[in-house]
Amino acid sequence: ALDKEQMQGLRGIREFLKVRTSYDVLPLSFRLVVLDNNLLIKKSLNILIQNGIVSAPLWDSQKSAFAGLLTSTDYINVIQYYCQFPDEIDQVDQFRLSSLRDIERAIGVLPLETVSVHPMRPLYEACRRMLKTRARRIPLVDYDDETGHEMVVSVITQYRILKFIAVNNEKYTMLLKKTVKEIGLGTYSNLATATMNNSVLDVIHLMVKHNISAVPVVDRDNKVLNVFEAVDVIPCIKGGAYDELSASVGEALCRRAEDFPGIYTCSEDDRLDAIFETIRKSRVHRLIVVDDESRLRGIISLSDILKYVLLFGEEEDDIRGS
Ligand code: ADP
Repeated sequence: ALDKEQMQGLRGIREFLKVRTSYDVLPLSFRLVVLDNNLLIKKSLNILIQNGIVSAPLWDSQKSAFAGLLTSTDYINVIQYYCQFPDEIDQVDQFRLSSLRDIERAIGVLPLETVSVHPMRPLYEACRRMLKTRARRIPLVDYDDETGHEMVVSVITQYRILKFIAVNNEKYTMLLKKTVKEIGLGTYSNLATATMNNSVLDVIHLMVKHNISAVPVVDRDNKVLNVFEAVDVIPCIKGGAYDELSASVGEALCRRAEDFPGIYTCSEDDRLDAIFETIRKSRVHRLIVVDDESRLRGIISLSDILKYVLLFGEEEDDIRGS
């Protein structure tokens, strides 16, 4: 019966995502900061910090076209470039946002697939695209009939989508009574962790190596003290201070904004309905799974949750086909 109820809940949410559009996720009124591609990377950092945001769409004003999404991954790429070519610090200082693709090439990382969706397409489609490309955020791009130019309406994130689901589907999320352990939600082996004494650079290398966006910070008993996130890199290199990356994780975490929402933990015996309750109420970007003594057990990312909600129990063919 639990299985049946769980499937019923998941199907309800999937149906909901099929009848809503990405546009529905956006608040009635919102502000969008778009950065000119010609801006110095160094300056873009300050703008993000001043606006309390961690990413922004880029605009090529020569072509009047959308030029991709700036995210913390781009800054991590710049840091990797700096590590590989330490003698070029003067040049790094002069890089513009339009050089980000050259930086990717120089350090040999594959450019992230630029996916965008039309705001009026079903939300379900945006979710499937996110999972397929591992993009954590997708720009909503529309066309302006008058000028024939592209227009960036907004950006939707995994976080916004899960929040939207949580807020609007209580009747379905309350059916999700299986525990984290029962459904195997999250990652429990080969966890990448750091200690307070590791340098920021160590942690960045760890994130790059594992292709993850957060690393739990633990003490010597494996008790969870904090989480270092990819977005924590932004204040670290403010003003182009790349040499400060040798500072410790502990020091870096002190630079977090005043309104940092904190970290969220759960236990393996928590049920998915409770997790949706947390998502509904808080600004949660991942859950750290701990035991009774706060020791690290695992990590549940928003992509793990989205994947489960969209794909669990779907036909294999269907997954490959889309
Ligand atoms: P998201 O895609 O939501 O930003 P991540 O990139 O952090 O999340 O996670 C990608 C995958 O890696 C998820 O399946 C998650 O469970 C796993 N993961 C996240 N952090 C770690 C970590 N520190 N060690 C090992 N695996 C992790």
